[in-house]
Amino acid sequence: MSATEQRGIRPSDLIDVDRLWRRLMRLAEFGATSAGGVNRLALSPEEIAARKVLADWAREAGLSVFNDPIGNLFFRLEGADPAAAPVLSGSHIDSQPTGGKFDGTFGVLAALEAVCALALAARKPRRSIEAVAWTNEEGSRFSPGMMGSEAFTGQRALDGMLAVEDVNGTSVRSALAHVLAAEPDISRRPLGFPVHAYVEAHIEQGPILEREGKSIGVVSGIQGSRRFRVTVRGEAAHAGTTPRRDRKDAVLAAVGMIDALAQLVRDPEDVMFTVGLFRVQPNAPSVVPREAYFSIDLRHPDNDVLGRLGDAIPDCCHANGGACTVGVEEIAHAPSLGFPGRLRETISAAAERLELPWQEIHSAAGHDARQLHYHCDSGMIFIPCRDGISHNESEWTEPHQVADGSRVLADVLWELADAR
Ligand SMILES: [Zn+2]
Repeated sequence: MSATEQRGIRPSDLIDVDRLWRRLMRLAEFGATSAGGVNRLALSPEEIAARKVLADWAREAGLSVFNDPIGNLFFRLEGADPAAAPVLSGSHIDSQPTGGKFDGTFGVLAALEAVCALALAARKPRRSIEAVAWTNEEGSRFSPGMMGSEAFTGQRALDGMLAVEDVNGTSVRSALAHVLAAEPDISRRPLGFPVHAYVEAHIEQGPILEREGKSIGVVSGIQGSRRFRVTVRGEAAHAGTTPRRDRKDAVLAAVGMIDALAQLVRDPEDVMFTVGLFRVQPNAPSVVPREAYFSIDLRHPDNDVLGRLGDAIPDCCHANGGACTVGVEEIAHAPSLGFPGRLRETISAAAERLELPWQEIHSAAGHDARQLHYHCDSGMIFIPCRDGISHNESEWTEPHQVADGSRVLADVLWELADAR
């Protein structure tokens, strides 16, 4: 940026923090809940409306807009060398049913703001820079999530994803068809392309940065996770007349399993074990339950611990099934990973230049950057969120914290885009 550099202007100076904040609040209107949160499930009508607004903002800034067969949405600022692999930055705009205004959305809008701002720079960056909104990160409606980034990086086949159904029997194929049909004016590109580097900005979703008084978290890596689904099949029977020895009570068996699993994963203390979904059939007060279905979410930063405990889960379930039959399916296994030092240094150096207090921090939650890590050099920038609360309607981040994160992101993207 020769002309601007001469005047001592950095890319981060071009960020319009008021516009970014206005856009965050505007996007939160799509799927807004009465408690101040956001219910914007993947591939929903609310998401279609939010995508349209994003595309309008991008076109206003002169960016090219693209989507792909899984519905990822890209906003491209053309570089001086259009053939060079672009720098990519973004996150997701789908939410949990009782989600907040910032999870995912901050990363998409910070990237879009950076790209819109850099379009005003006195010269083009060498590489193109693209902001991206990945499809279905949360996996709340269509499970498991991370579909957009996994399809893009080729880690999961598109066909299998398209067959996934939500609780109402609507498939990804059919919901996605509505999304893409609503965007006839957006150019379609194939899945995946070479990427020079990927940077994702995100709220921390934990309390550490706030507690330590730091503006920026330079993410060192992402904690690994394994996800299972357990089906326990018994037999429906009269709750009053069926003798105890003849019962095949799926819920009692499932509860026994969950208790045994909780004992199994008690050590070490930082193992995260969650049964967040539990369904009963036929779910009637006077009927011995025929079937219980539940999820297991297991996380730990050490791959050895994750491997050992995860491998023991199926046996533990089978051993506690009693008279019921038990099926255990592992639906996702993502190892712990560390982001490359070069990218972490680029982020911390940008924070230093902006005189923002920063620290290295581990991500306890999964993000699209996990998938991109296997595709190109990747990194993440965290900003604090109030009381560490996320996946919650009261999720909150202050405007100045949003501004700090987006300014670091803009400088980092510019530097990466000028790299050979
Ligand atoms: Zn997120």
